[in-house]
Amino acid sequence: MKLIRLGPRGQERPGLWQADGIVDLRVHFPDIPDINEEFFRQGWPARLAGTALPGQGLKERWGPPIARPSKIICLGKNYLEHAKEGGLESPPAPLIFCKTPNTLNGPFDPVLLPQSSGQIDWEVELAVVIGTEGKRIAKPEALAHVAGVTVMNDVSGRQAQFADSQWYRGKSFDTFAPLGPALVTLDEIGDLHSLNLTTQVNGRLMQDGNTRDLIFDVPTLIADISADITLMPGDVISTGTPAGVGIFRNPPVVLQEGDEVACWIEKIGSIKNRFVRHL
Ligand code: ZN
Repeated sequence: MKLIRLGPRGQERPGLWQADGIVDLRVHFPDIPDINEEFFRQGWPARLAGTALPGQGLKERWGPPIARPSKIICLGKNYLEHAKEGGLESPPAPLIFCKTPNTLNGPFDPVLLPQSSGQIDWEVELAVVIGTEGKRIAKPEALAHVAGVTVMNDVSGRQAQFADSQWYRGKSFDTFAPLGPALVTLDEIGDLHSLNLTTQVNGRLMQDGNTRDLIFDVPTLIADISADITLMPGDVISTGTPAGVGIFRNPPVVLQEGDEVACWIEKIGSIKNRFVRHL
């Protein structure tokens, strides 16, 4: 099942992306919540899995496939080749940081280049969305807490990231987390740890990795993070990026007004965002 959100920013409603088109779920279930904590607590993924609804050709904006997560947790240096390209050792334990919810952005929306800071970069990542609350989740139970996966571009302001010596500001500018195109349930994915993922910038291949190269796999991340941080339904864990970001290239590449960045993960799909000046 591929869950999506349709409609203008702030007014999205839940939908399904099927081979025969889009299902506008409010037409069939007037009381269905937005795809948020309540949606998962009410058990909508299981309820929808048992239905067969006709799709239609709807031409509307797609929002990020999750609304207002309590947190977006990201992983630093979780692919060895990416750690190496930054001249860094791989961390002995998962290295986590946060993006704030104001970063959430639709899969095909523009990304705003900040006024205050530069050196804007891309990072394709497999993002995991939590479906069931948990704390001290054991590795063997970890995937049962996952609602599905999606693609995130962990857009990064390197100037702020490096100048601040920590990552809050550089990772949390408005629109810096394009997400989508859909939240894909795990039954459609199979092995989470054998998915190709790429980034193309203006059609040029920049990142070309595979999730088999994650240093800490998804169950390890969920077990580690949830040891002392309660994971809530809707929370996003973005699992880190493979090699090929712009800032560590020789010469470095940073995004300019008008650039188009496409991030793709096998079995999930592509998000594509144009970088525009923040007026
Ligand atoms: Zn990242």
